[in-house]
Amino acid sequence: MKKLVIFIVCIICFSPIFVFGASKPRLTLSTNSPFQGDVVRVTLENSGVAYAFFKNASVSFFPYNGNFVALIPIAGNEPIKKHILYVILSDGSLATRTIWIRAKKFPSVSLGIPKGSTLTTDTLVSNLSKEKVAIDEVVGKKTEFVYFNERFQSPLLTADEITSPYGEIRKTGKTIIRHWGIDYKAKKGSEVYAISGGIVSKSYFDEVYGNTIIIDHGRGVFSLYMHLDERLKGDGELVRAGEKIGFVGNTGYSFGPHLHLSLKIHGISVDPERFIDVMKK
Ligand SMILES: [Zn+2]
Repeated sequence: MKKLVIFIVCIICFSPIFVFGASKPRLTLSTNSPFQGDVVRVTLENSGVAYAFFKNASVSFFPYNGNFVALIPIAGNEPIKKHILYVILSDGSLATRTIWIRAKKFPSVSLGIPKGSTLTTDTLVSNLSKEKVAIDEVVGKKTEFVYFNERFQSPLLTADEITSPYGEIRKTGKTIIRHWGIDYKAKKGSEVYAISGGIVSKSYFDEVYGNTIIIDHGRGVFSLYMHLDERLKGDGELVRAGEKIGFVGNTGYSFGPHLHLSLKIHGISVDPERFIDVMKK
């Protein structure tokens, strides 16, 4: 009799875990109210995905840390709006999540042309738009066999300060240029590290961005390091997470030694610090 009671108690205690607990699909978001410039990390546990879409575009999930993960980039100038994420799980069931995009207050500064530079506002704007086309082309070409599987980390051991945050509104004469990256003030010659593993898509010198390295991490994620004093990696080279790729410099359109870091997901620039935070886990 005692054995039977223990047996029944055991069934009552554990059966819900076996039946419902361990295998129930779980869809979680890093945030459901991202600011402009954030990344929403979507994690799906205990299920595969048949199809997912957000803002009428398909969302791709990939295996990461034992689960399926998708990254939804929110542009810095994304309209403030509510959207629904639809995920059809591998068993055919539908899961939805509401994502509210919140307005971010971006700082505004006046920025001239550095002393001794041959650039004018007009040439700066025209160079920037030409360079944007070239960069869009690079980040549009994904290297299919490259997939990051490591956590992301900071590109510098120490940065003195962030001198220009993501999204800053820069007024140069009558022209407004948005700063879709982060400037870290650091000593000239400080080592710069790859924020995760990947392949160098492009290593080059540009009049505005100076010595630049673009790394393709796979899954549509690219990191861009600009104004370097020296580049240690060339086109097509593989890099590991945390590997030294160059040194902080003052090359191109720059007011002093600093590292500019940009982060693009499917061609959309997001706040690199917010992205690294979301991908540290
Ligand atoms: Zn910058």
